[in-house]
Amino acid sequence: MANSKYEYVKTFEQTTTLLPNTYIVVRVDGRGFHKFSTKHDFEKPNDRAALDLMNAAAAAVMKELPDISFAYGISDEFSFIFERSSRLFDRRESKILTTVVSTFTAYYLHLWSTFVPSKPLTPLLPSFDGRVVLYPSTQTMRDYMSWRQVDCHINNLYNTTFWALVQRGGMDVTKAEEKLKGTLAADKNEILFSQFGINYNNEPEIYRKGSIIFCDVSYPYHQEVPDPAALAVSKNSEVEISKTQKEKERKRRSKAEIVVQHTDIIKDDFWEQRPWLLC
Ligand code: ATP
Ligand code: ATP
Ligand code: MG
Ligand code: MG
Ligand code: MG
Ligand code: MG
Repeated sequence: MANSKYEYVKTFEQTTTLLPNTYIVVRVDGRGFHKFSTKHDFEKPNDRAALDLMNAAAAAVMKELPDISFAYGISDEFSFIFERSSRLFDRRESKILTTVVSTFTAYYLHLWSTFVPSKPLTPLLPSFDGRVVLYPSTQTMRDYMSWRQVDCHINNLYNTTFWALVQRGGMDVTKAEEKLKGTLAADKNEILFSQFGINYNNEPEIYRKGSIIFCDVSYPYHQEVPDPAALAVSKNSEVEISKTQKEKERKRRSKAEIVVQHTDIIKDDFWEQRPWLLC
């Protein structure tokens, strides 16, 4: 490329490089989706097609960016978790963040007509914001996931009860809000059961637990995954996995099926059964 006298302006650019050997989390969230969901007639409290669309857009992002090991989605948000050793875009924050957000948005738009064929998408159009958070340990990473899933539970129990009062109990929204003010989980469960015959635990898992998406590489992967204790740890404490090993992993992953589950990710079971997700 030819140099020009203007080239110096490039030195004004600032980049943030994300700390090595930390889990990178990119969380995207729909902008003004309260309004967006009203404008596009989402079913309340949970529009299943809209959730399936979020999941499909997230899976597409994971296909395009194989350094993402898993993703967790609720409502209008999705968290994408990168493997600790990822060197995507030399760990430049703005490249990673903007690529995830725009790829997600592009697929959300592209897949809209597949998931919501009866409602053509016209402005108000969907857009998403995003942020990057780094987690330095498996414990903090697990706690982040637990935080999001607890949020899913709290919001969904509230929304399920609120909309039952409005849609089936004939209350207006202000009355329903008042009735739920200060109530505990047990109170909401009781309202659902005694007034509407709803056992909250029988509500669909996708609503109660959210959606976790990952590559199901379990069986063959297990045999070749290196024992973490046996991995060399270099001076800057980055785990070194040989290039061929990395390449093998990548190939296996690109062939592996992407699965969507609605399961508990707070307890240990899920993670113990899939140790490769948090490596
Ligand atoms: P912000 O721009 O600050 O994120 P927001 O209106 O998007 O504002 P959120 O806290 O992100 O606020 O809440 C998202 C809202 O979108 C929910 O409260 C709910 O009303 C609506 N929503 C999202 N997904 C669904 C869905 N699948 N079914 C029904 N409503 C949904
Ligand atoms: P990166 O992801 O690093 O940005 P890139 O392939 O997008 O990689 P750029 O330096 O951004 O690299 O260059 C964009 C390229 O896209 C151009 O070199 C050109 O080949 C192509 N391109 C963009 N716009 C047009 C256009 N309007 N007509 C033809 N080619 C285009
Ligand atoms: Mg937001
Ligand atoms: Mg939002
Ligand atoms: Mg949200
Ligand atoms: Mg480009």
